Amino acid sequence: MILVLFGPPGAGKGTQADELKDKLNLIHLSTGDILREEVSKETELGILAKKFMDAGELVTDELIIGMIKNKIVSNDTDKGFLLDGFPRTISQAKALDEMLKSNSLQVNHVVSLEVNDSILIERLLSRGRSDDNEETIKNRLDVYKNQTLPIKEYYKSSGTLIEIKGDDSVETVSKNIFSSLK
Ligand code: ADP
Repeated sequence: MILVLFGPPGAGKGTQADELKDKLNLIHLSTGDILREEVSKETELGILAKKFMDAGELVTDELIIGMIKNKIVSNDTDKGFLLDGFPRTISQAKALDEMLKSNSLQVNHVVSLEVNDSILIERLLSRGRSDDNEETIKNRLDVYKNQTLPIKEYYKSSGTLIEIKGDDSVETVSKNIFSSLK
């Protein structure tokens, strides 16, 4: 199964992914986590990505698509993937479809976590990651609306989109995601 966890920064994608990957036996690929690891190892990719991340901008499609391709080919595709933080642009969504198609796979479900802005800002500020300051958060939410939100229509038209209320407790959200997949 190829499952995409979709939603704005602070929607709880990482939290939900942790449980879902175990329950569904999927390989969890979080582009944010992979990038942060590259940054901490000071790899070429990490050095290139850091300035975008610190500014709350998207890392270029070319870098992200290459990075995900490597992860997909280096893993056993029999197991299936839980994608978290990817795709974030229409180009990434199209590139993903192409990649999967060449492995006879497709995106099966896109779970969109719906949370309003005031709760997102509150959650991000209390998380305290280095890119979670007020200015960067505002930029990330703008970037989300302008560049990422259009993907929802893309998946709506392919019939894979499932919208889940994301401002309930972690357990309730998790239960709702799980039952929507059955
Ligand atoms: P959040 O969901 O809180 O924004 P992430 O950990 O998913 O946090 O991403 C952190 C940063 O990594 C983003 O602000 C962006 O700079 C970069 N990033 C992550 N995934 C992508 C992606 N698919 N395309 C472009 N940039 C990305």
